[in-house]
Amino acid sequence: MGRFTGKVAVVTGAGSGIGRATALRLASEGAAVACLDLAEDAAAKTAARTCEEGGQGRAFACDVSDPVSVLASVEALVGNLGPPDAVCNIAGIGMFAHTVDQTLDGWDRILAVNLTGTFLMCQATLPYLLERSGNIVNAASNAGIKGQPYSAAYCASKGGVIALTRALACEYLERGVRINAVAPGGIDTPMHAQFALPEGASPALLARIMSPMGFGRPEEVAGLIAFVASDEARYVTGSVLSMDGGITA
Ligand code: NAP
Repeated sequence: MGRFTGKVAVVTGAGSGIGRATALRLASEGAAVACLDLAEDAAAKTAARTCEEGGQGRAFACDVSDPVSVLASVEALVGNLGPPDAVCNIAGIGMFAHTVDQTLDGWDRILAVNLTGTFLMCQATLPYLLERSGNIVNAASNAGIKGQPYSAAYCASKGGVIALTRALACEYLERGVRINAVAPGGIDTPMHAQFALPEGASPALLARIMSPMGFGRPEEVAGLIAFVASDEARYVTGSVLSMDGGITA
C-alpha cells in the first residue's frame, strides 16, 4: 500500500520537469494520476511512463490560463479517473528581462499562466476536494519570497501564488481542505532554456539566484510535494515549504 493508493491526483505541467517527476512519484505511490499539460503529447509520454512503471496515469490537454480549457479538462479527468483527492499546480513559465524592456504581453502571459492558472485550477477542483477532504499543492518559487533581478513578472506571479495559497488555506481551514505551496530554488529542468540572460546582466546580481550547492533535482521537489499532498502532512496548511539550497536562508 502506497500513501496514495486508491486516490486520484491531478498534476499540471506534467509533461516536463517538476510536474513530470511529481506525476511519476505520485503514481509510484499508488495514485491514479491525471497528467495535464499544454502539450498533450508530452503529458501522454508521462502518463505512458506511469503505466510502464506499474502505475496508472492518463493524459489530458489543458491550458491552465484558459478557464474553458481548465473546466473541460477537469470534467474529463473526473469522468475518466474519478474526483481528485490531491491537486498539484505545477505548470509555470518564466523569462528574464530588464524591467524597462519587459513587454506587456510577456508580463500578462506570465501572470496568466503562473497566477491566474493556479487560481483557475483551484477554483475548478475545490468542489471535489471539499467532498473528499483533499488538498492542493501549488508551485511557488524562491522568487516569490525574495527579490530576483530581471524577473519582475516572474517574482510578482510567484509572490501572488504564495498569497493565493495562504488566502485559500485560511478560507478552507474549517472545511478539511489543505492548501500549501512549495518554493523550489534552482532546479535542473528544461525551464532554464526560457531564462536567456538579458544583455548586460550583472554577474553580481545573478549570483544571488544560485545556491553554492548548485541545482536541485526535479525528483527531490517531487518528494517534497508528495509528502505535502499525503496524509502525513495532515497538520500542514497555508505553508510555503522551501527547497532551494539555502538561498532564502
Ligand atoms: P518545465 O520543465 O518548463 O515544465 C513546465 C511545464 O508546464 C511544461 O510541460 C509546460 O509545457 C507546461 N506549461 C506551460 N504553460 C502551460 C499552460 N498554460 N498550461 C498547462 N501547462 C503549461 O518547468 P519546471 O522547471 O518543471 O517548473 C515547474 C514549476 O516549478 C513552475 O511553476 C516553475 O515556475 C516552478 N519553479 C521552477 C524552478 C526551476 O528552477 N526549475 C524553480 C522554482 C520554481 P510546454 O513545455 O509545452 O510549455
